[in-house]
Amino acid sequence: MITQQEAYDTMMKQVCQPALESISLDQALDRILAKDIHADIDMPPFIKSAMDGYACRRADLDNPLQMIETIKAGQAPVQTIGKNQCSKIMTGGMVPEGADCVITVEETEVLDTDSVCFIADSTRNNVCLKGEDMRVGDVVLTAGTRLRPQHIAMAASVGAVAPTVYCCSRVGIISTGDELVEPEIKPTLSQIRTSNSHQLVAQVLSTHAIPTYYGITRDTETSLDSMLKKAMADNDVILLSGGVSMGEFDLVPGIMKANGFDILFDEIAIQPGKPTTFAVSPNSYCVGLPGNPVATFTQFELLVKPFLYRLMGHDYEPPNIRLPMDSNHTRARARRDGWFPATITREGTVSPCEFHGSAHVDSLCEADCLVTMPAGVKSLDAGCMVSIHLINP
Ligand code: AMP
Ligand code: MG
Repeated sequence: MITQQEAYDTMMKQVCQPALESISLDQALDRILAKDIHADIDMPPFIKSAMDGYACRRADLDNPLQMIETIKAGQAPVQTIGKNQCSKIMTGGMVPEGADCVITVEETEVLDTDSVCFIADSTRNNVCLKGEDMRVGDVVLTAGTRLRPQHIAMAASVGAVAPTVYCCSRVGIISTGDELVEPEIKPTLSQIRTSNSHQLVAQVLSTHAIPTYYGITRDTETSLDSMLKKAMADNDVILLSGGVSMGEFDLVPGIMKANGFDILFDEIAIQPGKPTTFAVSPNSYCVGLPGNPVATFTQFELLVKPFLYRLMGHDYEPPNIRLPMDSNHTRARARRDGWFPATITREGTVSPCEFHGSAHVDSLCEADCLVTMPAGVKSLDAGCMVSIHLINP
């Protein structure tokens, strides 16, 4: 059986270079930048006042200063500051020639309509130098960046109004199982509602890939085969949930093979998520996720999410965080590496959620993170440091 890390590496190795497109800034949230963005101007583009006050010469601060101009932000000064002169200036205004500092309104006393004097003991220069934040030609955003609001601001400030980004992957989602009904239907005896279908749609949306949900297939070869063919026609990746275990009606691997997929792994030494299956064909990828909702959720987080991001040009690396446990935690078996859901307390400790196993869908509702427990480790003591994987970063 391969390890979770080997499964991850196997999937990542299969990724081909994604296609590119150009989009507007207002469509760019969470898209992955495909080409570096360079500064087209110095920032600030001129020596800028950082305060409301008076631009003057530091050498004149002991003398009354005669006011010769008022400089608003967005207006170029026309006067040059000479000995014992100043210009009233607003924050963001262009510092006039001759001035080497701005004294603030709070540091000044107005003597009459056109003169002021400095009344503080000392002052900073209160100016932002031309190009101190960045210079023309500097790389301000690198390819591979997931464009968050702050990156969009950066692109806007250098005029990069149509960034080149990677195209979004299209992801088909299929749930398998004779026992499943759609959530709007009240299950009869022996049925359950599909939760994975809609969880997977939401998880795919969270990566900014484009999900299409195809519905529930019955546990028959014909039903599975026709839905998989439909999904293959329109998607880069197909996610199936259920039907990958050892049961008599777990038909997914066989149907993958019959449709030209090459199965690269079908078992991971992990809990939950052991039967997770990954297959490739010339035109698409297929991931068979276990039916149990916590296993599906966990393996999406650990494997599918970074895989989808990589397909869209981004190296998704959640922060490596270690925190102390707030209480003891034990598990019944420790043959495999394991993950359990937990909350992060206000005190910054990790508190395990009530967790009955991989079918326990509500165990995740209060969870902020998944906590890993290596094979061979059956219990964690309060106070010991654990690695956590944030689930909603
Ligand atoms: P399977 O992997 O098909 O053997 O399913 C394992 C368990 O997960 C069974 O108890 C299924 O009823 C349950 N299950 C399978 N698919 C789903 C789904 N889409 N939503 C919620 N539970 C599911
Ligand atoms: Mg099933």
